[in-house]
Amino acid sequence: MTSAQPKISFVSLGCPKALVDSERIITQLRAEGYEISRHHEGADAVIVNTCGFLDSAKAESLAAIGAAMRENGKVIVTGCMGAEPGPILATYPQVSAITGPQAYESVMTAVHEASPPPHHPFLDLVPEQGIKLTPRHYAYLKISEGCNNRCSFCIIPKLRGDLMSRPAGEVLREAEKLVKAGVKELLVISQDTSAYGLDGGYPMSAWQGREVRTRFLDLARELGSLGAWIRLHYVYPYPHVDDVIELMAEGKVLPYLDIPFQHASPAVLKAMKRPGDQKKTLERIKAWRGQCPDLAIRSTFIVGFPGETEDDFRILLDWLSEARLDRVGAFPYEPVTGAKANDLGLAVVPDEVKAERYARFMAHQQAISAKKLKGKVGRHMPVIIDSTQGLKAKGRSKADAPEIDGAVHVSSRRPLRTGDIVSVKIEGSDAYDLSGIAV
Ligand code: SF4
Repeated sequence: MTSAQPKISFVSLGCPKALVDSERIITQLRAEGYEISRHHEGADAVIVNTCGFLDSAKAESLAAIGAAMRENGKVIVTGCMGAEPGPILATYPQVSAITGPQAYESVMTAVHEASPPPHHPFLDLVPEQGIKLTPRHYAYLKISEGCNNRCSFCIIPKLRGDLMSRPAGEVLREAEKLVKAGVKELLVISQDTSAYGLDGGYPMSAWQGREVRTRFLDLARELGSLGAWIRLHYVYPYPHVDDVIELMAEGKVLPYLDIPFQHASPAVLKAMKRPGDQKKTLERIKAWRGQCPDLAIRSTFIVGFPGETEDDFRILLDWLSEARLDRVGAFPYEPVTGAKANDLGLAVVPDEVKAERYARFMAHQQAISAKKLKGKVGRHMPVIIDSTQGLKAKGRSKADAPEIDGAVHVSSRRPLRTGDIVSVKIEGSDAYDLSGIAV
């Protein structure tokens, strides 16, 4: 390769879904012979993949665009914030192009205009599975775009439209390539994984010489046959999820469910425009645990949603005590420009009350988590290694997703390698993490 190769600098902001978009764009850039530069200065153009979910994320995206304009001047904006270009153009009218999420082709057209591709595409530089921004041993697998729900605090459907599922065969071929390339864990993501295929009436799709239905259960079963850890994110507790628990009990997919419950009080859930029967959900969780005792449930909650009273908040804490979820994240409510929740006319929860409830929520869940993790001491469990330092390593059990859940701190007699899956005897625990020795 020569220094004549055009260079593109890349900034990736936002959630795992945006990361998948970034991976696709980078794969395409490399396929066409562009070099990815770490610095804006000296690059032929800069691509900023933005996040527009919260106002704070928009501010971060605008700051990244500003830095790219100062240091380079040829800036292509893509991602969620690009779906509504007004605020970007108001601050940076000189940006070269603005495209919305998943607009890979438009991004590439803008790149070609900023700096034409080299004459010979270096196709052979691209590993078959594409360029990964995540470590080599795990990868996100995006199965659909958009969402049919209309939660009042969320503008994703406005930005990304209604649910659009990728055909099962296409998803499975991508998964198969990733596993062949050494990926040990696939993280299935979408806005609503349990609704997968609903948009097209669960059509059949060709894979490995047969037909597979584009449906949550069928996809989970086929993914489970690839020999990697399969982790399911953003699942809603619909009745048909029961069938997937069976696959977890059989060891086909990880006994892990990421269900964003957001709240437990019927009044708050109604204002959020989300299904409200959390009592039924408790029964469902109990039944799932009966079927698959090792099931780890992760969830996220919003604290201080408009109209949330002290009583609503107590209902939430009581529900948490009953549900005994394994992993929990919480966010103090932050209004999102353009979201319906702003127009509901509900009493805004003052910041200090939000902060106080958030602290109580975290302390409450911490006690539950510490107790649950203590119950794992003495057990042997497989751990996937994320990083190593001499004879110490940091990894995750089947109950921990990367970035968002806890870790297992491992000591070993021989050096371990990133991506190894080792059996660990658990010897200690705290509120979030486990520690143990590789055996
Ligand atoms: S389920 Fe609700 S919060 Fe999630 S993307 Fe859809 S509308 Fe937004």
